[in-house]
Amino acid sequence: MPATPLEIVEAAKANRRTLRPALLAWFDHNKRELPWRDTRDPYAIWVSEVMLQQTQVDRVIAYYQRFLERFPTVKSLASAEVSDVLSLWSGLGYYSRARNLHKAAVELDAKHQGTLPSTVEALRTLPGFGRYTAGAVASIAFDQEAPLVDGNVARVLSRLFEIDGAPQDKTREATLWELATLLVKGERPGDFNQSLMELGATVCTPASPTCLLCPVQTHCRALAAGRVDELPPPRKLPPRKRLELAVALSHRDGNVLLARRPESGLFGGLWEMPGLVLEKGTNPYASLKALFGKRAVIGPEMLVLERTLTHRDLVLRLFPVDLPPRLKAPPDQYLEWRWIPRDQTHALGMSSAMESALDEVFPLEVKKARKRR
Ligand code: SF4
Repeated sequence: MPATPLEIVEAAKANRRTLRPALLAWFDHNKRELPWRDTRDPYAIWVSEVMLQQTQVDRVIAYYQRFLERFPTVKSLASAEVSDVLSLWSGLGYYSRARNLHKAAVELDAKHQGTLPSTVEALRTLPGFGRYTAGAVASIAFDQEAPLVDGNVARVLSRLFEIDGAPQDKTREATLWELATLLVKGERPGDFNQSLMELGATVCTPASPTCLLCPVQTHCRALAAGRVDELPPPRKLPPRKRLELAVALSHRDGNVLLARRPESGLFGGLWEMPGLVLEKGTNPYASLKALFGKRAVIGPEMLVLERTLTHRDLVLRLFPVDLPPRLKAPPDQYLEWRWIPRDQTHALGMSSAMESALDEVFPLEVKKARKRR
């Protein structure tokens, strides 16, 4: 019979005195060398924690280093334009993270002299600071006994204490946070939190965990019960949505027409070749004509690019659109639009899907070749 949440918490209380030192000693000898582990700067730790949400470590490293080179302090980030922040974030996805990072920096600069507060309560008043991020910054940067639960920690604790329930289950969530709160208390709380995350990332992996190398295998109830493979049960994903866009490639004298989306919503604040969502059965030619007006000349479809995002399948259908050089007001769904020299588009924040589409249909060589003529 599965243990009740109360029994699980009692088991954790009984185990914590041996579990904590085992995890900390393992972490000291086995942690990966990562750039954000070389610093005690709360700002740098915060940036790394935001980037690491929903993104693989290998992918984050270069972004983290570029970001800190460009914005080395809260103050430098606060004084930047959000479009510059998004530009540096291009390709990392989940752009609301970058917008919130910038918003929080502005607030920290205005109200806290550019320094991060050290407590979970104060951190959680800032934009983008959920329970996880506040716990990570408070514990890792300020050595506070602040708990955190991310996907890795949830998996490790679920197996160690044989916690049933699907990832979305509220009782399971509450039990995990209670365990994390109990276990983090003691010496080196930041390292302890990182040891759980590191164990989940490198040993207690979703498929085929290497239990033989696990420093806490003697504590592991799932291993003893032969239930490692079934815990935690897989997350139920919502059905994927298909998003089909008609996109206009419009260029003139080496400049490409780009438009900036409003700050909120999908791809918020990013630049893109202008276009619109195609509902099922919609004629893209008629839709683009309605968007750009009578004087626009729409050419035959030149490229279809498909991308898999986390929750949807994105289809970009590209059409050449000839527009008059003097632009009127942008279509309603954009804040602004401009002719941008093609060799400067990389400096703008664009989604990686849009950047690939632009590279395919308007490679930089086109402009260089035109200049040579
Ligand atoms: S023994 Fe295996 S399942 Fe248990 S915590 Fe260690 S790696 Fe995970």
